[in-house]
Amino acid sequence: MKKWLLLVLAVVALQLNAQDIAHYKKIVKELSSAKYQGRGYAEDGANKAGRWIAKEFAKVGVDEVVCQPFTLNINTFPGKMEMRVDGKRQRPGVDFTLREFNPSIQGEFPLYYVDTLNYNPEKILADLATPQYEGAAVVCDFMFTFKHAADFRKLQRKQECSNSALIYTWETPLKFYKAYGEVVREKPIIWVTPDFPQDATRVRFDMENEFLKDYECFNVIAKVEGFRHDSCYLFTAHYDHLGKLGKKTYYPGAHDNASGTAAIITLAAYYAQHKPAYDMYFVAFSGEDANLRGSEWYATHPLAPLSQIKYLINLDMIGDNNPAQYCEVSDEGMEGFARFEQINAEKGYFQALDRAELAGNSDHYPFAQRGVPCIFFMNEDGDAFKFYHTVYDSWKNAIFDNYEPTFKLIRDFIGE
Ligand SMILES: [Zn+2]
Repeated sequence: MKKWLLLVLAVVALQLNAQDIAHYKKIVKELSSAKYQGRGYAEDGANKAGRWIAKEFAKVGVDEVVCQPFTLNINTFPGKMEMRVDGKRQRPGVDFTLREFNPSIQGEFPLYYVDTLNYNPEKILADLATPQYEGAAVVCDFMFTFKHAADFRKLQRKQECSNSALIYTWETPLKFYKAYGEVVREKPIIWVTPDFPQDATRVRFDMENEFLKDYECFNVIAKVEGFRHDSCYLFTAHYDHLGKLGKKTYYPGAHDNASGTAAIITLAAYYAQHKPAYDMYFVAFSGEDANLRGSEWYATHPLAPLSQIKYLINLDMIGDNNPAQYCEVSDEGMEGFARFEQINAEKGYFQALDRAELAGNSDHYPFAQRGVPCIFFMNEDGDAFKFYHTVYDSWKNAIFDNYEPTFKLIRDFIGE
């Protein structure tokens, strides 16, 4: 009799697990789909995703879902995005991408290649002042411009040089830098791959930006009530991403960060079924790729006082397949980190928890700065991570290996 019961329980546990992973994958697929156009600000992509997330939280049976609005200023690229080099069309996201602060640019211009072997900044300025190179787009290797930043800053300002744009060769696949264009600069900077022609003469641009002022977006907060209300746990992940690069190209953001968003939803589903000791908040932030705007807003407008947070767990890119888990921990979170390490040593979920210094690179940071015990998990340097901030961070390229160990590590940490 007992044996049978055990077997039935084991089967039920297995099924729940399989269902849970299927649910997880379904969420990643949904959020990285064309419906949300890269979950940026153009065409309301992030907000559409936010509304879907709010419904999904409600569906899994949490006690309360709240949308918390805030505004930001943000540069977007929903319109024309064309570039031709000696007549040959360049593909947005594949052959070129932009800096987030680029203005619109239209017209045909000469190309001017910086001679990096005989580098002479005065000669460049003199050349660009000649009629032959009037309004030229200046081409140079990005790492080289990095070493001569002061010279290249001159080329970025209208009053110092009449060139129309800067074209920097970088690596493949091309990364969109960030979405935090809260200003629009004077001249565009365009990234191209090392395959960019080294002897072309003309470039034609038709690129449009749209600057959104006081654009409203929102965090989605789900609450599961515990037996006690004097302390709480927070599980956080940003759901916004880089949005669009022209009419047809968008950044799907499957790993960054549909993967973390899906995990806080399945965690909410789990705790809605297993009533926790303390209140739990599952916070899906917007505005992360716009400079941590959503988490800054929450940290200054929290639903429960920050002093009541027992621990905050931030998930940003947690699928993937690196057997070691990268993490950052606030000073106040170090005691908790010792417990994470102990659990991991016992259960062997990850080869190691590689802790690095705190950096202002994800949503735990505004909380760490305010003395909240917190940890940030990010699975980096796996096979999905190489597509970080590229158009290839898609459902097709998503990897799910580390979802389960991350989920279990967190569940064990929280305890019964
Ligand atoms: Zn991210």
